[in-house]
Amino acid sequence: LAEVLEHEQHLPSETPDGHAMALMVNTGLTVDAVAQLKPRIGGVGLYRTEVPFMITERFPSEQEQERLYREQLEGFAPLPVTMRTLDIGGDKDLPYFPIHEANPFLGWRGIRVTLDHPEVLMVQLRAMLRASRGLDNLHVLLPMVTNIDEVDTALRLLDRALVELGEEGEDITRPQVGVMLEVPATLYQLKALASRVDFFSVGSNDLTQYLLAVDRNNPRVAELYDACHPAVLAALARLADEAASLKMPTSVCGELAGDPGGALLLMGMGFDVLSMNAPSLPKVRAAIRRVSLAQAQKLVEETLPLATPTAVRAHLTACFDAWG
Ligand code: PEP
Ligand code: MG
Repeated sequence: LAEVLEHEQHLPSETPDGHAMALMVNTGLTVDAVAQLKPRIGGVGLYRTEVPFMITERFPSEQEQERLYREQLEGFAPLPVTMRTLDIGGDKDLPYFPIHEANPFLGWRGIRVTLDHPEVLMVQLRAMLRASRGLDNLHVLLPMVTNIDEVDTALRLLDRALVELGEEGEDITRPQVGVMLEVPATLYQLKALASRVDFFSVGSNDLTQYLLAVDRNNPRVAELYDACHPAVLAALARLADEAASLKMPTSVCGELAGDPGGALLLMGMGFDVLSMNAPSLPKVRAAIRRVSLAQAQKLVEETLPLATPTAVRAHLTACFDAWG
């Protein structure tokens, strides 16, 4: 089976009825597999910039960051590379910037940290912008957004970075900017967000954690953490509809997108960009190549009314068995 899947990696991620899905990768450290991946994907849907920060002994300098980002942007050019600004806090601590809190996932995380430390965000934005010179494939993504002002402030800082670099003689194209939809509050502010940014990226890992009030890393409640919970699926389906009516390009970059059943549900809901860890590409591509868009839409229709995560999982398994 692995050989069949490997063989299919060069074929388009398209359903039998001709619906094209863009498959992107999530990256963090170096881009060793780029040459192999590049012909098979639509770009990088999520580059977690905190990953390289976790293995250094201090905040990397602007120049050091520029080098890291250039490697990603150059490696995948002309494909888009979506660079998320530092998403520390929660489960991700930097040894040289410890955060101790009673409820870290509800605390100082993602954009909340970087807006409190604009000097950190400015260095990062300047490094990203400088790295994108002449390539123009940079997309900037803002994590853990809850309030519209956070987006406005971040956009002001981005504009300031562009002005500064312009004054320093650099000619840099303004990147596309997107917001992570992972705090449930954003689902009720889509219109205001859409008027400010160029794209959305759904973080189904955190969205699941926050919708279900289940810590994604706590083994004691691990059984309750399930992106196939009917409430999560209902939220995603509604989000897909609203994003479509707002004409906002919207991708999904949480683990659900890298699960074949999850990917088919997302496709049936109307998401057409899925970003996942590279090892998930073969099985997701295989699922897409075997199931029509109409079948995926029917799957969503049948699944949304189910009452429990167990029933959802059982239905997905039954469908996969029936499809062979
Ligand atoms: C998510 O929350 O779904 C996501 C993609 O981001 P992270 O897993 O890095 O929090
Ligand atoms: Mg997240």
